[in-house]
Amino acid sequence: MLEFCPGAYFALGAHMGDNDWRVVLTDLDAQVVERLDVPIPAPTPAANLEALVQGVAEIRQRVPARQLLPAIGLGTRGLVDIRSGVIQSAHEVGWLDVPFRQMVEEALELPALVVNRGKLGALAEVRHRAAEGVTDLVYLSLGAGIGCGIVHDGALYVGANSSAGELAHSTVAPDGPLCPCGNYGCLQALAAGPAIANRARAQLRHGEPSVLRARAGNHPEHITAQDVVAAADEGDALAGRVIGETAGYLGIAIANLVNILNPQRVVLAGPIGLASRLLLERVQQETAQRAMAYPLSAVRITRSALGLDGGAIGAAALVLQQAIDLIFR
Ligand SMILES: [Zn+2]
Repeated sequence: MLEFCPGAYFALGAHMGDNDWRVVLTDLDAQVVERLDVPIPAPTPAANLEALVQGVAEIRQRVPARQLLPAIGLGTRGLVDIRSGVIQSAHEVGWLDVPFRQMVEEALELPALVVNRGKLGALAEVRHRAAEGVTDLVYLSLGAGIGCGIVHDGALYVGANSSAGELAHSTVAPDGPLCPCGNYGCLQALAAGPAIANRARAQLRHGEPSVLRARAGNHPEHITAQDVVAAADEGDALAGRVIGETAGYLGIAIANLVNILNPQRVVLAGPIGLASRLLLERVQQETAQRAMAYPLSAVRITRSALGLDGGAIGAAALVLQQAIDLIFR
């Protein structure tokens, strides 16, 4: 008989991107009403905190203070212990045991909820697709690292100590390159942004024509994964081959997930996952070649419907799950 007036209160959520924070305010229905991006000047915990504090101060000005729920949800990189809010490890930037929740709570004087950004993307995506009847979903965020969130029966699956979904460090090539985590042939070492850019640079040295040379001003060391993705979608053969190899590794990992978890959706997100039509097509083909036919018949592989907002909306949704407690506190 009763329901919330969506605009009565606002929830604060933030997503730690590779180079910037996306900070959002959502209404009580998790619809974004304000957003802003704040650049992160250096990949250190302190620089991340400083940028977050700046973004939160700015976005808080945009709504009346009494309508803001007194908490913040955060989606960060790395393996996060959800109970303690400690980032156990984020190998791509060399972080170990960063007490990020404590740092944020001291700086903002607000209770904080800290969860891996891939998990929060998954949470936002399944909320968004609830009307389509989606309850089982795997979310893959592709950028400088690879984040993954698993939703089963409508709820986030976190596992015994919050590490479910560490797909980035599962082996997809036994003799592959050394990963900063210490293992060889991890998915992240072969299919995340730096690996894509490195493979393109290596292939350019053989002299094959490619639009990537001009894009990088004849300095192949400046080529980024975004350059490779864009060139591949424009039909560049060398870039297309690199994206095809990347999709091959992703296809191995996703086919395993399809066989093990039997999801309805696999969602590609993050700056690389969202950017490339070719990558999506090749991942669909590679997964179809490796997954078992019966679980494959139940799954659709698509790009995220929420774009780069996904992680921040999921972070705000953490606050919304506690809305009644926060309103009547
Ligand atoms: Zn690894």
